[in-house]
Amino acid sequence: MTLAELSTIRDLLVCPRCRSRLAAVQGGFACTAPSCPYHASPVFPVVGRWPVLIDFEHSVVRRDTVSCVRTRGAESLPAPLRRLFKPRNRVAARNVELLLRGLPGPEPRLLVVGGATVGNGVGLVYEQSRVQVIGFDIVGSAVTQFVADAHQIPLAAASVDGVLIQAVLEHVLGPAQVVAEIHRVLTPDGLVYAETPFLQQVHAGAHDFTRFTASGHRYLFRRFEEVGAGTVAGPGTQLLWSIDHLVRGLSRSALAGRAARGLLFWLRSLDRFVPPDFAQDDASALYFLGRKREREMSAEDIIGYYRGAQEPDRRRRHASDP
Ligand SMILES: [Zn+2]
Repeated sequence: MTLAELSTIRDLLVCPRCRSRLAAVQGGFACTAPSCPYHASPVFPVVGRWPVLIDFEHSVVRRDTVSCVRTRGAESLPAPLRRLFKPRNRVAARNVELLLRGLPGPEPRLLVVGGATVGNGVGLVYEQSRVQVIGFDIVGSAVTQFVADAHQIPLAAASVDGVLIQAVLEHVLGPAQVVAEIHRVLTPDGLVYAETPFLQQVHAGAHDFTRFTASGHRYLFRRFEEVGAGTVAGPGTQLLWSIDHLVRGLSRSALAGRAARGLLFWLRSLDRFVPPDFAQDDASALYFLGRKREREMSAEDIIGYYRGAQEPDRRRRHASDP
């Protein structure tokens, strides 16, 4: 485990409202800027061992519920069933290796946004002695050092060399603002790795807001140079989810939906027979690995970016593939 001690990253922490430095005070942390509302009272509390660095006036996280900060429990399903319902994310595992290898500097810092639980396929991140991991989420956990809202990351500019954000951007109200924050906290050649749903049913109830096509996901990261992008899970996985939710709807039972998913788990294996251009138009989830740049993609760039199967010339090219 290479989670950085809070004391070693203490100097990187800033006020989420005005980005001034923080000072330890009675009951928590205060902003050092006299004009900031968080300079005196209220200060940022510490709940359990986690400083709660949230600007509550601008967050869906409420001050009165943050006392519920807790360590999230382990997966409740037995391992064989867990593999059936949630197989190992091999795409993430491969891409996280690329991310780790591409991090600049001898002892890079990697920020995990929404990192209260170790994401599927990204365990390697926590096993690198060379990499200092910083994690935060809206709840505290064994793999986070502070509680924060990704719309206002309480870290100084250019303070981390890499960012991992897996299955988080659909749960934020302002994905573009979160990506702008990721851009701000990254060092000039820093890397970001994101996985985000495209065709998935609502999950996490009231906290699920957005989906992205491959082009939409690319444009979200328009101030990054692409290192890699593609499909995490394709049309077979997408169909499996859809059947699960159709059965849920017809039977009014989540259990019946899960049973259908268990019976039809093999649909997922059809993903491997769908070529990438067709897969990206019908993907369950997509990834993007990119390097921070100041130049932004233009509207023309993003129209030229499309790599799916729906343009006539792409269909023809596909038909003539050997
Ligand atoms: Zn402040």
